[in-house]
Amino acid sequence: MSHLYQSYVDHLEVLKQKNNYRFFKKLQHDGQMITVQFPHQNKTMLNLSSNDYLGLAQRRALKQQFLDEYPLHTQHFSSSSSRLLTGNFEEYERLEHTLNQAFGRDSLIFNSGYHMNIGILPALTNQNSLIISDELIHASIIDGIRLSKAKRERYLHQDLNQLEQLIITAMQDDTIDKIFIVTESIFSMDGDMTDLTAFVQLKQKYSKVLLYVDDAHGVGVYGEKGLGCAEHFNCIHDIDFLVGTFGKALASVGGYLICDTVIRDYLINTMRSLIFSTAQAPINMAWTDFIFQKMQQYQQKRQHLQQLSHDLKQSILQRGLNCPSDSHIVPVIYGENHIAIEKANIMQDAGFYVLPIRPPTVAVGTARVRICLNAELNLSQIEPLFKLL
Ligand SMILES: *Cc1c(COP(=O)(O)O)cnc(C)c1O
Repeated sequence: MSHLYQSYVDHLEVLKQKNNYRFFKKLQHDGQMITVQFPHQNKTMLNLSSNDYLGLAQRRALKQQFLDEYPLHTQHFSSSSSRLLTGNFEEYERLEHTLNQAFGRDSLIFNSGYHMNIGILPALTNQNSLIISDELIHASIIDGIRLSKAKRERYLHQDLNQLEQLIITAMQDDTIDKIFIVTESIFSMDGDMTDLTAFVQLKQKYSKVLLYVDDAHGVGVYGEKGLGCAEHFNCIHDIDFLVGTFGKALASVGGYLICDTVIRDYLINTMRSLIFSTAQAPINMAWTDFIFQKMQQYQQKRQHLQQLSHDLKQSILQRGLNCPSDSHIVPVIYGENHIAIEKANIMQDAGFYVLPIRPPTVAVGTARVRICLNAELNLSQIEPLFKLL
C-alpha cells in the first residue's frame, strides 16, 4: 500500500469508531420485500426505506407491457455522446414533449437529479446574484451553490420571516441584481411540505426574486395528475425553475427542469453538467416516458398513499411521539441516537426494513427512524409496526 494512503486509512478508522462508517450492503429485491445480508444471517423484510413511492418499480406487469410496446432489439442502450454532439435521440424529444404537454411549459432533461442541481445554479448566476436557500436543502443543491460565483445566504428551515428579511436587505444592495430563493417541496428527512403559495407570494412581492423549487419527493405523489407539489398548490407557472427527478416515484432515473424557453436555451449553451456528460441511454428515456404517461392516471394510488401516511402519523402522535411529517415520508423522532438505533433494530427484527437516521445527517438530538411508505402497501401490512413505535 502506498504510504500516501495512510491518512485515508486513519480517517476510515475514526469513522468506524464513531459508528459512522458507510459501506454497500448486499441486498436482494423481490416485490415489496427486501433481503438484507447481515454478518451472521440474511433477513427478509417489508421494504419501508425505498423511494419507490407509487410502488411502480416493483411491478413486473408494467415492465412487461413496456417491453411488449418497445421490443428490446429496437432499443439503444447508450447514447454514445452528449446531446449536443450525437446523443440527441428522438426518445429525448418525446419525453420532453410529454413533459411540456403535462406541465404546459418548456422542459429540459438531465442525466440525474445530481447533475441537474449541480449545473443549473452555476450556469444562471454570477457575482451579482444572491442565492438564499433553506438550511436543509439537498446536498446536490448545496454543491451547485458551491460551484456558483454567487453570494449566498441561508435561512432557518421553513423560516419565511428570516427569508423575507434577507430579501429586503438584498433588495437594497445595488451590487445584487437577481435573488434566487431555493427550497424543496418536501424535505426528505422531516417529510414536511413547503407552503409553495407563500413562496410564490414572496417572489411576486420583490422584483429581483426568482424561485427554484426541487420537487424530487413530490412528483408522482401530489397533484391530480401527479405533477407534484406545484400542481397541488396550483403554481406550476409561478415557479421559475421547477426541478424534479425520475428516480423516486417515477421508477426510472434522471432529472427534469420545467421552465421558460429562454432558460432552456440558455442552459443548453452554458450548463457544464449537461454539455460535458454523455446523455442517458435512450432506453431509459423511453421507459421514463412510458411511466410518466401512466403515472398521470394513478389518482387512486396517490389517495391511498395519503390515507396510509395519515394513519401512520396519527398513530405516532397518539403515542406522544414527535413527527413533523405532512407526507408519505414519516420520521419518528426519538432524540437520542441509541434509542433510534434500538427502535430500528426492534422494527427490523419484526420484519420491517426501516433505518435509523442520526447526526450529522440530521440535527443533534433529533435522531429518528425514517419510514417511507408506498402506494402498494396495505394498512394491514403496516399496522403491526404501529405497536412497535
Ligand atoms: C434524490 C434527490 C436528488 C438527486 O436526484 P438523483 O436523480 O438521485 O441524482 C436531488 N434533489 C432531491 C431533493 C432529492 O431528494
